[in-house]
Amino acid sequence: MNLTDLNTQQLKAVKTVKHPVLVFAGAGSGKTRVLTYKIWHLIKDKIYKPNEILALTFTNKAAAEMKERIKDSINCDGVNVGTFHSIGARILRMHISYLDDKYNSDFTIYDVADQKALLKEVVEQLNIVEFKELNINFLRSQLDKFKNASMSVEEVEAKANTFEDEKIAEVYKRYSELLLSNNAVDFNDLIGMPIKLFKHSKALLNKYQQAWKYILVDEFQDTNSPQFELISLLGADHQNITVVGDDDQSIYGWRGANIDNILTNFQDTFPNAVEVKLEKNYRSTQRILDGAWSVVSNNTNRAEKKLVATKGLGEKISLISTGSDEDEANAICDSIKTEIKINKGAFKDFAILYRTNAQSRMIEQTMMKEGLPYNIVGGTKFYDRKEVKDVLAYLTVVCNPNDDIALKRIINFPVRGIGEKSITIFKNLTLEKNISLFESLKFCRDIKLRGKQQDSIESFYLSINKFHDLLDTLDCKELLRALLEEFNIENYYKNNPAEQDRYDNIQELKLSIDRFAENSSGNLKDFLQEISLYTDLDDWDDKKNSVTLMTIHAAKGLEFSTVFVSGLEQGLFPLIRMDDDSDQLEEERRLFYVAVTRAMERVYLLNAKYRRKFGALNTSSFIQSEFLNEINQDIIKVKPYKTVYTKRVVRSGGKKTIQISRTVTEFDDFKVGDQVQHNLFGVGTILVLNGTGENQKVGVEFDGGLRKKLIVKYARLKKID
Ligand code: ATP
Ligand code: MG
Repeated sequence: MNLTDLNTQQLKAVKTVKHPVLVFAGAGSGKTRVLTYKIWHLIKDKIYKPNEILALTFTNKAAAEMKERIKDSINCDGVNVGTFHSIGARILRMHISYLDDKYNSDFTIYDVADQKALLKEVVEQLNIVEFKELNINFLRSQLDKFKNASMSVEEVEAKANTFEDEKIAEVYKRYSELLLSNNAVDFNDLIGMPIKLFKHSKALLNKYQQAWKYILVDEFQDTNSPQFELISLLGADHQNITVVGDDDQSIYGWRGANIDNILTNFQDTFPNAVEVKLEKNYRSTQRILDGAWSVVSNNTNRAEKKLVATKGLGEKISLISTGSDEDEANAICDSIKTEIKINKGAFKDFAILYRTNAQSRMIEQTMMKEGLPYNIVGGTKFYDRKEVKDVLAYLTVVCNPNDDIALKRIINFPVRGIGEKSITIFKNLTLEKNISLFESLKFCRDIKLRGKQQDSIESFYLSINKFHDLLDTLDCKELLRALLEEFNIENYYKNNPAEQDRYDNIQELKLSIDRFAENSSGNLKDFLQEISLYTDLDDWDDKKNSVTLMTIHAAKGLEFSTVFVSGLEQGLFPLIRMDDDSDQLEEERRLFYVAVTRAMERVYLLNAKYRRKFGALNTSSFIQSEFLNEINQDIIKVKPYKTVYTKRVVRSGGKKTIQISRTVTEFDDFKVGDQVQHNLFGVGTILVLNGTGENQKVGVEFDGGLRKKLIVKYARLKKID
């Protein structure tokens, strides 16, 4: 790294250390680069020590990359780089018991599934199952809303004035009580509780303000109100803070992100802030920027910005309209093959982005059929698989025996004859004696259970206790192995051929815990925390040479040479759930802007006349995405794509089988008459074509009359529009 790698504005953002800094700039203008260089500069010029710097990123992956880059260039460890959630969890591990002494540092972090299981318990306990409209998902979104708005149970109770509101307030109250008794927190608490702690204790806040002397935040446009409050508290005293963001890329409104943080709140909270604008884009070509721009500039709630590509005009944006989602996927595959043939790209230079996860299935199937290597980001996460979750629940209960939700997952797994009825008996005991479900198991001899059940519960109780005592002696790797052995889990899967996949996944889990133990403290608590903060992106191996398939949301901050955006149909992208909601439409436009600006060289926009929904072909009338009408048509090149399917009866050995083959009848590969550019011979026209694919031969007449026969694979011909 060198400061000469930066332009004047970027340099200003890096070197301004006496004032708060707001870098407000468009996609690909080097905001993330500025943050990385600024950390490097602060350390190298001895302005702050590595451990005095706190950098907040949007994903674990971005945090790991930033750490790596800094370590590579300055060989230092100890910079605090993480997501808001991981830093919040770190604070809570140290001090959570200040909030309530029923909490301790072994607390579990609940994911969505755990949260829903807990809410189910709440609804049962409060006996409000009969209210259909108060379903679990709705309740969860309500709690999210309260926590995003930093509303306490008391505030919600005070505001409730309808019957339904009162019920929801009751749910919120009981949910919080159960979290406490389970020694568990949810994702929102990872931000909300540190705020409470700091408000509770000025001394503690001072300690952190002095420890973290410089704060940097990436993707600032997608912070929510509690996240902004947290950094405002940490930065209030020294005001050493740099945030970077782009209001046009705020795409997490549905999860509580507050676009006003970047538009007004930062300046209001830090009135001395210096605002730096970055106006050069180093990632994309001008046509790509223009395409993205022409859509997002129709939004009203945005700040005007300038952005000029340093790369020049580039190619036009391609638009391929196909007959069906299957052909859309075929068109993507054929385009990738052609591009690799012409531009010599590698598979990892391509990304296929979609608005909804459901679209990935058809693309995946087609990629498989066509033999193209791909990598799907998202979908079912490894750590969400049942057998993996079960083993993790064992580890969780060993760490935190108060976690009833985890305990319920494993109390009868592998089967020890404990059904719903027995669990209810134990649950009643917990209420009677005011103890946790786990503690109630201790009394298994005093209650009405069969002798065999009593034996198995007792041995379960003793074993978990034994492992709990071993936490300080064994590392997570040893613990997992001993535990699988003790509870006979591996054998359970191994002896059942139908469960081979599950057995393999347990082996994979062993490998992942081994990797963790090698590169870290080896502490089980730390491992469980890392897993609970895992996101889709963490599974993605971006070094592998394969095409990436991901949602637009997951693609934030990333870049690829060629980007395909699928499903540009009205109703799918923009995905509008409620009519006439202009805020929603604005967020969809920002999503489009994010999708297109991931591309460095080429963008393909695609849509399909018919698309399968829930397995059936949806024949409702097709309207192309309104975004396509908002783009200046001069920068779009419509590419034809048509296929025909032919049936052939094949006879072999007296058997008849029907083979269906697909032929592309119209596609924008080379055609006779095309204008092409060659590095050495200049511009020419294709006169003849021979063969297809990699070994296609062309006869070209170049300007000046020179005629050449060339093999497309080697000739590096470029088509001129
Ligand atoms: P996004 O808004 O998508 O998060 P960003 O503003 O964070 O984008 P970066 O990812 O930091 O942009 O930079 C985009 C690309 O431009 C990267 O490949 C980066 O290395 C390159 N880049 C940034 N600044 C410069 C520069 N001054 N000179 C050359 N390349 C640069
Ligand atoms: Mg960035």
